[in-house]
Amino acid sequence: MVLLPQYLLELKKIGYSYHSLQGETVALQDVSFGVENGEFVAIVGPSGCGKSTLLSIIAGLLSPEKGTIVVNNPDGTLHYPKVGYMLQRDHLFEWRTVYQNVILGLEINHQMTKERLDYVNQLLKDYDLETFRDKRPSELSGGMKQRAALIRTLALGPQLLLLDEPFSALDYQTRLMVSADICHLIRQTGKTMMIITHDLSEAISLADRVVILSSRPATVKKELPIHLTLQDDSPLAARYAPEFQDYFSQLWEVLTDENRD
Ligand code: ADP
Ligand code: MG
Repeated sequence: MVLLPQYLLELKKIGYSYHSLQGETVALQDVSFGVENGEFVAIVGPSGCGKSTLLSIIAGLLSPEKGTIVVNNPDGTLHYPKVGYMLQRDHLFEWRTVYQNVILGLEINHQMTKERLDYVNQLLKDYDLETFRDKRPSELSGGMKQRAALIRTLALGPQLLLLDEPFSALDYQTRLMVSADICHLIRQTGKTMMIITHDLSEAISLADRVVILSSRPATVKKELPIHLTLQDDSPLAARYAPEFQDYFSQLWEVLTDENRD
């Protein structure tokens, strides 16, 4: 008997359309794939294909029009995993200090408990932001802002992290460092992560599996499991792995084939 992987979340034939006076835009059609507990899944696809719509559905901000999401928690409970959603821009408020920004979610959700605040203080130390806690966001580097946004997302203790092109506002060099750095930090927490990116190299270097979506209406074109042989754990190591180029070519082929359709 073959044991199928037990998915934390299983998307089954998800469909979604936007309706306006001008008519209907079908964004997602029959999107089906699963996410294992603790897995990092990258989602790539042409611009405007429906990636952000898909993440909003998984976050519970939009309800799917068609299809279902099945939940299998490791402890057997049926509740939907607690989600942390981090958007493209860091959305830190300039009128608040770094500390006031990272506790914002706790404030809004009335969860300013000692336990949560201790956790935030620990994250500030771990992410080298301790000495910047009373600064304003504009005084931080791009990478520091992303780390602050991540702390704010982690403060509420999410089990599933959804990141929508979180590094796209950073310049290329910063992006290489910060993306590897942040993913390394998230891996240590054992959380499950889904990340949208338009950068194929980033997808290969960060994820356990890449899901490639078609152009709109998005549907899954291919799923590519990634296994890299790493020499060391530097941020660039993944990009020098012997398998890297082959994965890149495979993704490129599916995406360019998609654009020709
Ligand atoms: P992606 O993140 O892949 O770039 P989106 O999920 O943001 O794509 O959008 C998918 C499609 O749905 C696009 O054609 C977009 O114009 C349309 N769309 C997104 N949000 C809305 C909305 N609120 N109302 C109407 N159409 C929308
Ligand atoms: Mg988007």
